[in-house]
Amino acid sequence: TIGLAERVIALKPSASIGAKQKVLELQATGKTVIDLTIGEPDLDTPAHIVSAATSAAEGGDTHYTVPMGTPALRKAIIEKLRRDNTLDYALNEVIVGVGAKQLIYEAFAATLNKGDEVIVPAPYWVSYPDIATIHDGRPIIVPCPEGNGFKLTPEALRTAISPRTKWLVLNSPNNPTGAVYSREDLSALAEVLRGSPHVSVMTDEIYEHLTYEGKALSLGEVAPDLKDRLLIINGVSKAYAMTGWRIGYAAGPAALIAAMNKLIGQSTSCASSVSQAAAAAALSGDQACVAEATKTFRKRRDRMFELLDGTPGMDIRKPEGAFYFYPSVAGLIGKCTPDGKVLTSDLDVSLYLLDGAHVAVLDGGAYGMSPYLRMSFGGAMEDIEAGCRAIRKACEALV
Ligand code: PLP
Repeated sequence: TIGLAERVIALKPSASIGAKQKVLELQATGKTVIDLTIGEPDLDTPAHIVSAATSAAEGGDTHYTVPMGTPALRKAIIEKLRRDNTLDYALNEVIVGVGAKQLIYEAFAATLNKGDEVIVPAPYWVSYPDIATIHDGRPIIVPCPEGNGFKLTPEALRTAISPRTKWLVLNSPNNPTGAVYSREDLSALAEVLRGSPHVSVMTDEIYEHLTYEGKALSLGEVAPDLKDRLLIINGVSKAYAMTGWRIGYAAGPAALIAAMNKLIGQSTSCASSVSQAAAAAALSGDQACVAEATKTFRKRRDRMFELLDGTPGMDIRKPEGAFYFYPSVAGLIGKCTPDGKVLTSDLDVSLYLLDGAHVAVLDGGAYGMSPYLRMSFGGAMEDIEAGCRAIRKACEALV
């Protein structure tokens, strides 16, 4: 046998990949399972983006690019940051990765020394604490209760900062809660950060365009004075339905970008040349497809709300962004299933919905806050409708 490294042994498999496995197992037994765990849009990549990729491939754009990404894509990113976020970045301050995820990975690899702390507000996207841990960092999980809209308060941030704090990770719009930080929220956090110049901020803005109650702001727009310790993470996966193309980007101080560039040069070499051409077309082409996608998700969100609101034991609130509901299921804990099993946690609730109603959802525990469920409306309307009806029925059957 080949011995594994401690850093891998300590790593838990991703919750969403585990859920997917369970769905596939049930489906293999011939059962129809409605999957509300999905973390991506079910939409097709818009045609003009696909055709840019085809032209690139046919035109011989099939070689390694520089690790940072093609100048054409980096220019498109700079223009996007100017257009959407009123932020100014130079060519050596932006970098392209194999998905936003690679850039989070390389940013932590480039900056964390053993024991450095990464503040992760909970509920969180599962990868932040795991990626920090892989790089010897120490995730500091800060609970952000529903009472404050699942958002980090200035007081909680102040308390979490220590002399070892390296990063604060801010994800707005948030996966899994859909929370969007307002200008006031960001200004108040910026004020705390001004008092702690050793803390850098990674802002994960991947769901930027998927908002339903107004625009999401970048911390850099609200607090331009923090620019030299801000790393913006974004990508084309969610806004342009391009998850499989694997293109993300980051913008930040040149020295950090150069360090990430070195790491990319020694790992993936560069992102796919063809995907980079597609991403450049996405960012600089007609943005009507983004508005159209947002409209589709808004319809799905409103329908999901309509169907789930009033479900016994579930506290349904409409998310302001992203494509997930994150209802509390505190009212279901202690209830008994028709087979006589008592539900003791959100994981129990999710297993009951899977076995009893054949609907797959994720438990809040996987996202660092219980008892909640994450239900995606990234999928088709038929699935949302059938899934919500089955969930309601299953909840009504509990005693
Ligand atoms: N950040 C958040 C909050 C996400 O939910 C995801 C994907 O699920 C990512 C980053 C990664 O996106 P990418 O496909 O660009 O790697």
